[in-house]
Amino acid sequence: MIAWIETNGLRIGTFPALEALAPALRVWFTSRSGGVSTPPFDSLNLGSHVGDRRPDVLENRRRLKNALGIGKNRVARGGQVHGIEIASVTRGGKFEDTDGFITSSKELALAINSADCFPLVIHSPSEMVTAALHVGRSGASGGIIEEVFGLLYDEFRIDPENTVAVCGPGICPRCYEVGRDVAMGFPSWARKHRGKTWHLDLPRFIRTRTERAGVKPANFFDSGLCTACDDSLFSYRRDGGRTGRNWTIAMMVRL
Ligand SMILES: [Zn+2]
Repeated sequence: MIAWIETNGLRIGTFPALEALAPALRVWFTSRSGGVSTPPFDSLNLGSHVGDRRPDVLENRRRLKNALGIGKNRVARGGQVHGIEIASVTRGGKFEDTDGFITSSKELALAINSADCFPLVIHSPSEMVTAALHVGRSGASGGIIEEVFGLLYDEFRIDPENTVAVCGPGICPRCYEVGRDVAMGFPSWARKHRGKTWHLDLPRFIRTRTERAGVKPANFFDSGLCTACDDSLFSYRRDGGRTGRNWTIAMMVRL
């Protein structure tokens, strides 16, 4: 379902099957390859505030924007706080306390920063509106998925049936051990009890909630990748908290 492209030394994941349903939408996710950061941020760390050298992060972002043809000041990114605040944006820049974006602006890149949490993109091909969310366990249980469909309807009268959803890499249930208290905050179908430990199936939770909101199962695209299983991605859990951040970018292009 995904394909990797190599460009300017970067290795970037894409969703080729999207094109038939959503010709103007681009969704890219980064891997660790192609940047300048040194261990444990090697090498394409895109996250600031993780302990990496700022000039290296800025160089990595510059390389990514060049590789993807993103213009100056055309990246909207959030000061993510595991909340459910979603901003409507028409310009690039950093938006504090924001875990999601909605835009109808073309060639505006919505960037989601993650290293185990899931990036989720919702797009309406007919209305030409795109949303991108940072969905960890707090945002998911807090209702950020329901929030985005509410906003898409209120602002643009978008019916979820006519949208596509794209879920990027995040942590798989096998790798995602949680405490009992956390597990009990989720429905039984989204948690697993293995021996003495509890595991959370966040990808299943996200998919189910997205489909319950009205997205057709055939319109749900999932990378199927686990950030912790796949060494080519940054994982907060696997790397003991000191690691870089992957970016998933959603952008509408002019056709
Ligand atoms: Zn895994």
